[in-house]
Amino acid sequence: MAQTRFTKSFTQQAPIPDAAMDAAMAVMRTGRLHRYNTLGDELSETMLLEREYAEWQGAPYCLAVASGGQAMQIALRAAGVAPGDPVLTNSFTLAPVPGAIAAIGGQAVLVEITPDLVLDLEDLERKASQSGARHVLLSHMRGHLCDMERLAELADRLSLTVIEDCAHTMGASWNGRKSGNFGLAGCFSTQTYKHINSGEGGLLTSDDAEFMARATMLSGSYMMYARHGAGPASEVYDQIRLETPNMSARMDNLRAAILRPQLRELEANIDAWNARHDLIARMLTRCTAIRVPARPSVERYVGSSIQFRLPGITPETARSFVAGLAERGVEIKWFGAAEPVGFTSDHHSWRYVAPQKLPATDAILSGLFDMRLPLTFSLEDCALLGELIVEAADSVASVEVTP
Ligand SMILES: *Cc1c(COP(=O)(O)O)cnc(C)c1O
Repeated sequence: MAQTRFTKSFTQQAPIPDAAMDAAMAVMRTGRLHRYNTLGDELSETMLLEREYAEWQGAPYCLAVASGGQAMQIALRAAGVAPGDPVLTNSFTLAPVPGAIAAIGGQAVLVEITPDLVLDLEDLERKASQSGARHVLLSHMRGHLCDMERLAELADRLSLTVIEDCAHTMGASWNGRKSGNFGLAGCFSTQTYKHINSGEGGLLTSDDAEFMARATMLSGSYMMYARHGAGPASEVYDQIRLETPNMSARMDNLRAAILRPQLRELEANIDAWNARHDLIARMLTRCTAIRVPARPSVERYVGSSIQFRLPGITPETARSFVAGLAERGVEIKWFGAAEPVGFTSDHHSWRYVAPQKLPATDAILSGLFDMRLPLTFSLEDCALLGELIVEAADSVASVEVTP
């Protein structure tokens, strides 16, 4: 065991399915890659994706866009956030979330998280009244859902409009209701490291016709808004079509073509991710130094990555924990690092956001570790990863961690 090394890549995704490659070739043979480039009453791949995603998600409307970040920017704008407006959001999330708020000139108001990595609803309530914010961009960071019923009740009581960032919760649900269906809109990403892969891409869902009409115009629909697969009726556009700017963030038929077959495989892939995630989570839970975030029984998550904490670890020990695992081929990210690395950053390095004091979040992030679980890892691979992490955590714990 001592010299065992993990050799697979943490950024190697599964190949694009054959059916998706065939669909991509078929689109390319037509030359009609732009979503509005259709012959007669032909339905474009992008329209069909919108229709199929709306159905899968259980939302009346779906708009395909260029990225998850664009879905969030468009949603905030279409929801009526104006420059200078405060927008509540998670203090622990990825940079495109505060980035979407900055893009529309909003002021991010960062809300603390709990040790289970979800939004602290008491802090949300406090900051909603302090800031006067009317909007929440709720980020289900790394797939952890807060108590969605309490959140919805709170939003109702405080007149907050909720937009969900579901980049890590495509396919997740709370008490049988899909993540993305709790507020005004759900924003999804189809970027390579998410749950379906078109390189870049995004999906926006809602049950609000007027919101979706504005979002569709914003996405760059020109006067072609009737050519959408799951959009509102044409009359809904009468009032807004000339007053909503075109911000060109459309999806194209090539991406839509490779996403449709992947959507059909998503349920099976969720089971595969969760088998991997749960195997490692069980191993980590048995280690006394490690804390694995609690997952309530009403939460159906998608275990495409795993998070765990080593409470009380010092920065020096955290760095050597990460370095030691890296020597064994295990790529772990640490959210407590002073400098952003790769995709990982924290609120201290978002200098376009007004600095805010977040002591609870900082304490949690200082001992928080994260690992991707691509489907190219087998269950045996995951068992080895679990062993290597537990071994490393035990040796750290013998030095200093206070559980
Ligand atoms: C990836 C990601 C996004 C944005 O998705 P892109 O498609 O890359 O713009 C938003 N939120 C979170 C938490 C993400 O990880």
